[in-house]
Amino acid sequence: MNHQKSAAFFTEAKRTIPGGVNSPVRAFKSVGCDPIFISRAEGSRIYDVDGNAYIDYVGSWGPMILGHCHPKIVEAITEAAKSGASFGAPTEKEIVLAEMVCEAFPNIEMVRMVSSGTEATMSAIRLARGYTGRDKILKFDGCYHGHADSLLVKAGSGAATFGVPTSPGVPADFAKHTLTATYNDLDDARAVVEANRGTIACIILEAVAGNMGCVAPRPGFLEGLRALCDAEGILLIVDEVMTGFRVAFGGAQERFGVRGDLVCLGKIIGGGLPVGAFGGRREIMEMLSPVGGVYQAGTLSGNPLAMSAGIATLNLLKAEGFYDLIEEKSAYLEKGLLEAAKEAPFKTSWQRVGGMFCTFFTEGPVYSFADAAKSDTKAFGKFFRAMLEEGINLAPSQFEAGFMSAAHSTDDLDRTIEAARRSFKSL
Ligand code: PMP
Repeated sequence: MNHQKSAAFFTEAKRTIPGGVNSPVRAFKSVGCDPIFISRAEGSRIYDVDGNAYIDYVGSWGPMILGHCHPKIVEAITEAAKSGASFGAPTEKEIVLAEMVCEAFPNIEMVRMVSSGTEATMSAIRLARGYTGRDKILKFDGCYHGHADSLLVKAGSGAATFGVPTSPGVPADFAKHTLTATYNDLDDARAVVEANRGTIACIILEAVAGNMGCVAPRPGFLEGLRALCDAEGILLIVDEVMTGFRVAFGGAQERFGVRGDLVCLGKIIGGGLPVGAFGGRREIMEMLSPVGGVYQAGTLSGNPLAMSAGIATLNLLKAEGFYDLIEEKSAYLEKGLLEAAKEAPFKTSWQRVGGMFCTFFTEGPVYSFADAAKSDTKAFGKFFRAMLEEGINLAPSQFEAGFMSAAHSTDDLDRTIEAARRSFKSL
């Protein structure tokens, strides 16, 4: 495969854009090759500037559950653009999407639109702090909730100790309010809460972790956190930026039957345009400005193009059997890939929840970030590069999930499985 033009663009991009990319993982740094520059995408395929076609399992990191360039979404965006790209004033479309979100999530009585997942989680946390009058938050090691200061914190050495900043630029004074615990370890979360009784505003988590690969909650974990929050006056924030409208129409909360006090959304609800949202019970949400005093705002919040793409997307997802179709395709791929992985010279572990999945290059099961971190990332990089050469676009990191779309055909899946068989063998 020829990547000449991509290579030239990368060199040029690095002159004016840090690392040549506007989001770090796009630089392919952890997989040992240069990134491909994309020219267009359609259905299950994405095309690079050198004219190479790839079957795409990144789907813009989740939003493209209908496949790329779905005609109904293109039409919705085009029509909306004809009436104006942005007004900075309320529109009917915002009400429509808000009502659709409230209908899908029974625990969301009110919702506010923002422009990214980061804004959604950052705002939800501010709201939780405002509501409870407490400063500390508890997150889980390996869960990503965007790049707001207080969320860029990894686990310290002891679960109950203060977090340490992951990134330079996050003041220790901010990071000290962020406590961390081990994902899927209820006892650990209980111990942290016990050691910080009465000071924790919220527990935030991905109900299916998609930012350390793909890690499902173990039975009892979500239920236990719900009970812990209820007992301690802590708000449970379920970050469904990735899982909302992905693992079920009503997200991971519908799938696992546990409800948060606040919910964060993004990705799919924007149909590929920049959107985030956070919502929850009326009494909490009405603490937001202009009703209450917790400030939160956005020039482009509720943008008409994004609302239109979101409404059109959710309408299509409501079709009878849509999630069965995603499940069927994903199960088909799973069966084939498990078979193909037998050709690998070492053990791998496949994990999947609905249409999100990953292959860990370690013997599973993977329940936590510490488990995921045992993966052979060099081997993953080799596999990634082999698959790319085969025309399969996977997420360029061991610690990211893959996504199925409705546009993936059986032929696409068969080709992927065959490519994986050869790639595993070549390791
Ligand atoms: N939360 C989760 C669970 C995510 O997966 C992401 C992005 N991958 C975010 C928050 C942040 O969203 P954004 O990149 O739109 O800011």
